[in-house]
Amino acid sequence: MSERRIPEVDRAAAARRAVERRRERAALKRDLTMRVTAPQVVAKRAFDDADSVCGSMRITDFLLALPAIGVGKRDTILSDLEISPVKRLGGLGVRQRVSLLNWLDTRFPVQHPRAGRSRLLVLAGPTAVGKGTVAAHIRENNPEIHLSVSATTRKARPGETDGVHYYFVDDAEFDRLIADGELLEYAVVHNQSRYGTPRAPIDKALAAGKTVLLEIDLQGARQVRAAEPSATLIFLLPPSWDELVQRLVGRGTEDEAERSRRLRTAKVELAAQSEFDHLIVNEDVAAAAREVVELSEATAR
Ligand code: 5GP
Repeated sequence: MSERRIPEVDRAAAARRAVERRRERAALKRDLTMRVTAPQVVAKRAFDDADSVCGSMRITDFLLALPAIGVGKRDTILSDLEISPVKRLGGLGVRQRVSLLNWLDTRFPVQHPRAGRSRLLVLAGPTAVGKGTVAAHIRENNPEIHLSVSATTRKARPGETDGVHYYFVDDAEFDRLIADGELLEYAVVHNQSRYGTPRAPIDKALAAGKTVLLEIDLQGARQVRAAEPSATLIFLLPPSWDELVQRLVGRGTEDEAERSRRLRTAKVELAAQSEFDHLIVNEDVAAAAREVVELSEATAR
């Protein structure tokens, strides 16, 4: 009997692996709920490798993790798709895989890059995803791209230069810019200060044949889309929801109440990603910046 028993060390290692798996599955569920990862991506990973974290996820847990799917809806979907609730994603049959993917495409449409070409690029994304850092990297390394300098009513932070990072203006001057139609878009960001994109430098750069990049918030991106429907909208995604939370906490510039407010905002912002033409994951700043630049080259051709 004794030789059949699993040795203590193996048992401990297996328990550790099981804990790690549960942790990874929980993180994956958060990514699905927060729309950081598309459900189609998770399904395809599961079909490619049944032993992966995605593959070992129960179909019931997968569906429940999707935005706006509760228990009732989940059960209806399972019966419509003729999938048993005991199944794991990696264990679905061929027909079930096809019907699940079709259902996902209808419920969570993936955006297709628009055919039109534009040299006006808009970089947006949830709070703390690192848009500013990616834009700064492009400013340093790609002088051929005109990075728009916004006007703002917020005070300059240490290290910021007027005319380089922002045009720091007072409320009266911001009102004047709006009244004179000098802003392409403007918005109140984080319920605090006003930010806007001066129109003239952009028109000038576009007329000179340059590519123009705006790093602005979601409200601004929507206004640009309305004013210039041909603009290319890029959405920067965090590698995971946990990473986004980490970046927000790590920054240490906001207190607890402000952090949770920004996380709620980030959740709403992530839900807008399907309005964008391209999604770029900000795993590494230089790589994400390169992807933006490549898009600018592609769209400028
Ligand atoms: P910060 O104050 O940290 O530099 O920027 C705060 C937020 O304002 C960022 O999300 C940034 O994208 C956004 N922002 C910066 N300039 C503009 C702008 O001209 N228009 C809009 N709508 N948002 C901006």
